[in-house]
Amino acid sequence: MFVENTTYIFEGWHRAYYMTDWKSTLITAGCDENWSENLRNSLAEKDWSPSLLPIVSKLSLGERLSIDDGHVLYSHPNLNEIGQLANLVKLARYDTKVFFNSNVHINQTNICVLACKFCAFRRSKRQSDAYELSLDNYLLEMDKYANLVDEIHSVGGLHPDWRIEHYEQLITAAKDRYPNIAIKALTAVEIKHLSKQSDISYSQTLRRLKAAGLDSLPGGGAEILNDDVRAVICYGKESSDEYLEIHRQAHSIGIPSNCTMLFGTIETIHDRLIHMDKLRNLADEYGLFQCFVPYPFLPDSTRLPEAQLATSNEILRTIAVSRLMLDSIPHIKAYRMNIGDEVAELALNFGADDIDGTVRQESIMHLAGADSSLNYDIYQMAKLVKDAGFVPIKRNTTYTNFSEVDAKPPKRARRLNVIA
Ligand code: SF4
Repeated sequence: MFVENTTYIFEGWHRAYYMTDWKSTLITAGCDENWSENLRNSLAEKDWSPSLLPIVSKLSLGERLSIDDGHVLYSHPNLNEIGQLANLVKLARYDTKVFFNSNVHINQTNICVLACKFCAFRRSKRQSDAYELSLDNYLLEMDKYANLVDEIHSVGGLHPDWRIEHYEQLITAAKDRYPNIAIKALTAVEIKHLSKQSDISYSQTLRRLKAAGLDSLPGGGAEILNDDVRAVICYGKESSDEYLEIHRQAHSIGIPSNCTMLFGTIETIHDRLIHMDKLRNLADEYGLFQCFVPYPFLPDSTRLPEAQLATSNEILRTIAVSRLMLDSIPHIKAYRMNIGDEVAELALNFGADDIDGTVRQESIMHLAGADSSLNYDIYQMAKLVKDAGFVPIKRNTTYTNFSEVDAKPPKRARRLNVIA
C-alpha cells in the first residue's frame, strides 16, 4: 500500500519541480494493495492466444503458475505477448512506477579461495592485481560517494584469512561514520565462508553481522540452484540447499535479501524454472525476498567455453517469465550493469519494475564484458526510466521509502532538421 506523506517543491538547478514522498512496509514493498483486482480487470480486456488462456485464467484467479506453465511461457512463439502478460502483472502491482536506488558498489577484496568458471573477478593472493581493502581504505572509498548514495553494495572474494571480526569491524566503522547509508553486503557463499572460518553457525554469523549494522543481503551466488550444474560452473561453492538455508536464516531474524539467477551457462530451461520455484517457495515462508535479479552469463575472461550465452530475446523472455512465476517476490530487477541500459529499458516493458541504480563503480560484470554506463546521478536514472515510458521512483534499500524524481531537462534544446 502506498502511504503518501509529503509533497513538496524541490529546488533544483534552475527550476523548481515537484517530488512526492511516501512510505510502505517491508512486506508490501510499495505494491498496490488492490493489485489482484487490477490484474483481473486488465487481463479481461485483451484477447489472448488459446495456448495462453489456462495461464491467463490462473493469473486472474490469483493461482500460482506451475512448472509446466513456465515451459509454455518459454516456448510460446510470440515474445511480445509474453511481455504484455508480464507487463500487466507489473502494472497491476505498481502502475507506471519504476524503482531505482542511489548506490555504489565497493568490493572489499578480489582475493578468493575458489575459482568459479564464470568469474572474471577473482584473483589468487599472489596475482599482481590482487587487492584487499584495509578498513581505512574501505572508509575512504565510502567517503568518495557518501554525499551521493544511500546504499553501499559490498561483495567480494572469499578471503583466506578474514574472519567474522574483520567484517564486524568494517560494518561497525561504516555505520559509525555514515549511519544513514544502508549496508547491503555479503552473498550467501561469503556468509558460509565466514561461518566456516570463524567456526560458528550461519545463524550466529548473521546475528553478529546484523548487530554490527548489516541492513540486508544481496542475492548473488544463487547461479542455478541445481547441484549438477553448480558442480561444473562453480565447484566448491555453497550447495543449492545451503544458499536457500542461509537466506532462510537471514529472513528468520529479520534481515531482508535479494535473490538472483545466472542463466545462459549450461543449464536447461527446466533448471531455470525449478530455480524460480525454489525461490518462490522460500519467499512464502517469511516474505523477505525483496527482489529477483535474473542476469545472463557474460563470457569475457571466464573459463566456460561450453556456455550457451543468452540473446536479448532470451533475456527479455526470462525477465517476463520471472515476473509471471514469482508471485511471492515483489520486485523483478533489470540489472543494467549486466544487460546494458538498452536491454534494461526494454525489460521495463517486459515485467521488470526495478532497475539497478546509480552504481557509480562496478567491477564484477565489467571485467566479464559489460559496458553499461557507470556513475549515473539520480536525474540520469530518471531520464532512462522516463524514456522507457515510466515514472521514476527513487527507493531506499528495503523498499520502504519512496520519492518521485523528475529528469533534468536537456541543457540545450535539440532541433531535428526536417527535410520537406
Ligand atoms: S564467483 Fe565469488 S566465490 Fe566464485 S570465484 Fe568469483 S569471487 Fe570467488
